[in-house]
Amino acid sequence: MAEAEPEKARVPYDVAIAGGGFAGRTLALALAKLAPQGFRIALIDAEAPRAGTGGLDDPRALALSASTKSLLAVLGVWPDIAPNAQAILSIEITDSPLDAQLRPHFLGFDDELRSGEPGAYLVEHGALSRALENAVAQERVIEERAIEIFAPETVTDYATSPFAVTVKLGRGDEIAARLLVAADGKRSRLRERAGIKCVAWSYPQVGIVTTVAHRRPHGGRAVQHFLPAGPFAMLPLTGNRSSIVWTEGALRGAEIMALDEASFTAELATRFGAKLGAITLAGPRQSFPLELQIARSFIADRLALIGDAAHVVHPLAGLGLNIGMRDVAALAEIIVEEARLGLDIGAAPGLERYQRWRRFDSAFSAAVMDGLNRLFSNDSAPLRTLRDLGLGLVDRTPPLKRFLVREAAGGTGNVPRLLKGERV
Ligand SMILES: Cc1cc2nc3c(=O)[nH]c(=O)nc-3n(C[C@H](O)[C@H](O)[C@H](O)COP(=O)(O)OP(=O)(O)OC[C@H]3O[C@@H](n4cnc5c(N)ncnc54)[C@H](O)[C@@H]3O)c2cc1C
Repeated sequence: MAEAEPEKARVPYDVAIAGGGFAGRTLALALAKLAPQGFRIALIDAEAPRAGTGGLDDPRALALSASTKSLLAVLGVWPDIAPNAQAILSIEITDSPLDAQLRPHFLGFDDELRSGEPGAYLVEHGALSRALENAVAQERVIEERAIEIFAPETVTDYATSPFAVTVKLGRGDEIAARLLVAADGKRSRLRERAGIKCVAWSYPQVGIVTTVAHRRPHGGRAVQHFLPAGPFAMLPLTGNRSSIVWTEGALRGAEIMALDEASFTAELATRFGAKLGAITLAGPRQSFPLELQIARSFIADRLALIGDAAHVVHPLAGLGLNIGMRDVAALAEIIVEEARLGLDIGAAPGLERYQRWRRFDSAFSAAVMDGLNRLFSNDSAPLRTLRDLGLGLVDRTPPLKRFLVREAAGGTGNVPRLLKGERV
């Protein structure tokens, strides 16, 4: 990559963040709130600001772990999200063929969740997007630690020198920063420009996402039916509504997406069951391709990858963004500590610390999700017997269940302080 003179660049920033999705926006906010006075952040997003509408067209709801909630609370965003957040109070897991009359309960988390803070919350995409966008907009008016937003604008390339990185924008401008963060999603252009390869494969499955309204209350219960085509998740939203993440084989998924509303609802009802009464569609449907992708390195010269730019996992446990938020919390902690000490935040020692902290953890989560998907997404009778024995065993081992709940909440291992609800 060509060397560039930072002096030629238009504006000097401490950090330039490419991508204003959930990961990029949260990092910008964390740095604006916690870094020393005078710290300057450029947030460059290909999408125009949504003027308060916050991505309402995306039907996804996100299961946010207790740790992600703690991060958003420290950053002052949670009070804005809370009215739209449904706590998950219990979890039920079943494993049966599609035509089973009864879906026997194999594993449940009731007392483990009720004994403390809920392990996760369901928040609709639009509500989370709106809250983060409003919070970032407020930081723009604070002179000393300002976020400057470039949107709609793309980062097309970058070049490094020993002291800075020069970021090239789509309209021809250049900006200089000490560190560039790639938060530009799973097809990250910056990752490609840095020559970072990925371990990646596509699943022969799609995730169909929609929202249903039902007659009876869900009581905060999340249900995961492991069906032969893949997991079918019913995730409680505020009111008598649930978000559906329905994994199907790619071909069957396309057929289901092409059905008219009545036939689509009938297919859905077969899987949803009758416990919560009659269902109606309460939102648009969308089908997402499913894949696994882990960048071989999370860093390059003056570059750090976060969120989907660094890793994409199967959505069966709703972990994707939560893993991205762990990147945000770890990188923010390192940058803030180094900035306070007057160190060069784009230099190798801080970046290597970030990579050690995040890469193994992300790859491990991706591998576990991959293994679970392979173990459950089939109709093999011996495998079903084995896995049901396993689930039954876990169900009867309370300490293991408590560990799994803490793990899902993001509370095990070397946890960044922001995820524990502490300021850095
Ligand atoms: C079906 C499904 C269900 C899911 N459910 C959950 C769940 O329950 N819980 C959970 O934690 N996760 C879940 N996920 C994962 C989650 O949606 C993603 O991990 C998360 O949205 C990724 O956020 P991000 O900010 O890293 O990337 P993105 O949301 O992809 O944002 C990238 C941003 O970068 C911008 N951009 C791209 N290129 C450039 C460029 N060159 N210059 C400037 N800007 C650029 C884009 O416009 C975009 O705004 C789910 C995923 C799927 C598919």
